[in-house]
Amino acid sequence: MSARGRVLIAGAGIAGLATGIALRQAGFDVVVLERADDPLAAAGSALGLHPTAVLALRSLGLDGPVVEAGAEVHRWELLDWRGERIGGWPQTEVSRVFGAPSITLPRARLHQALHAATPAGQVCRGATVAGYRETGAGVEILLADGTRESGDLLIGADGLHSAVRRQTHGDAPPRAAGFTAWRAVADQVLPGDTTVPTARQILGTGVTFGSWPLPGGHTYWVATVSDDAKAAAGLAGRPEGSAHTATAHALLTDVFRTAPSRAAGLIAATPPDRVVRTPIADRPPRAGWSTPRTLLIGDAAHPMVPTTGQGAGQALLDAEALGTVLRGVDLREHHALGERLRAFEEQRFPVATGAAQAAWHLGRLHHERDPEQVALRNRRLRATTEAEWLSRQGLGPASIADSRSAG
Ligand SMILES: Cc1cc2nc3c(=O)[nH]c(=O)nc-3n(C[C@H](O)[C@H](O)[C@H](O)COP(=O)(O)OP(=O)(O)OC[C@H]3O[C@@H](n4cnc5c(N)ncnc54)[C@H](O)[C@@H]3O)c2cc1C
Repeated sequence: MSARGRVLIAGAGIAGLATGIALRQAGFDVVVLERADDPLAAAGSALGLHPTAVLALRSLGLDGPVVEAGAEVHRWELLDWRGERIGGWPQTEVSRVFGAPSITLPRARLHQALHAATPAGQVCRGATVAGYRETGAGVEILLADGTRESGDLLIGADGLHSAVRRQTHGDAPPRAAGFTAWRAVADQVLPGDTTVPTARQILGTGVTFGSWPLPGGHTYWVATVSDDAKAAAGLAGRPEGSAHTATAHALLTDVFRTAPSRAAGLIAATPPDRVVRTPIADRPPRAGWSTPRTLLIGDAAHPMVPTTGQGAGQALLDAEALGTVLRGVDLREHHALGERLRAFEEQRFPVATGAAQAAWHLGRLHHERDPEQVALRNRRLRATTEAEWLSRQGLGPASIADSRSAG
């Protein structure tokens, strides 16, 4: 038993596992309670990690295996529905300035790396957190099977539908974004991707299609379709969470039949049972992530729509930041703990909220349905210079100039 306290973490997703690793490294006892029996149950398809996320993994000593399992993105290209380029930037420039690559990897490989760094027996599976009770001396959680666990701090890393958040905030249902995502890994490589690995995003009218090269001759793709476009394509009205059927797969393929870059080809070449379908939602940002003995992190604290591919990265940044702010603290010291939890939120709230708001606005822009607005959007994107694109990746002109003169 650690002299400095015991942390209970609800949820063994990316946020819960990474935070468990960071807090063990900071000297605490950690137990992660995960509802699912299968550790990789939620680890379908793939995901992209921004250089800042790779840097957070580096601080945990985990960037090596994760980068090795992924493919580095060298370029970003935005295309209109006719296949004309409407934007793009050298992602290698972003990576160079941040000092870490931008990578895409199978989700399972990230989960495996996090599990490999977690001591055996510290993740309890089939353990659903139903609620908690703060006592003067600590926190007690109640599991769905009626058992209880006690600790000094409870971290809610239990995702968009967090049970911990429900109790802290009494929250309403998540906010629907008005579009659905289908994502999968195809056993194909797009032409050109073997020379310059390129992330491509096609923007249509109420629909988008993104593709990212993966190692081993695979491509990760994400198709998004707005609710209106879904209705027009016959894809609406399917019960949420239902399996992606062969019929829905054919309908989805049809939506992208006239799009460039072999979008329809990639979808058609992917077996339907590999496709993960997710109706997209977030929650409006809300401060107050902590109570005296609980803290929300990851999607439980700051869920965001996936338009910018930042949610998991922000969860990794939470893990790094929490490990740093709690280092040296005795969790049983009520005041010191409260102060550090507030310091964590002061540091992370503006960054995660900024990322969530940017993703929400971009999500709306990308799913625009009015043809005039679509044309205006595309004209504006086309008029954006490469320096402006780079600046939007967090690289101001000064930092680019500095890095160029340094390099
Ligand atoms: C289509 C799509 C594409 C995305 N692409 C990217 C991307 O490219 N890059 C990126 O950075 N992010 C991406 N994201 C976002 C990313 O997936 C999430 O932000 C990330 O998974 C959040 O991790 P988390 O651990 O906070 O939550 P989750 O991944 O939701 O994990 C929560 C865990 O808690 C468990 N749990 C839930 N309730 C309980 C309970 N009561 N008791 C115990 N356990 C519980 C769940 O089983 C789960 O294991 C994408 C999201 C979507 C939908």
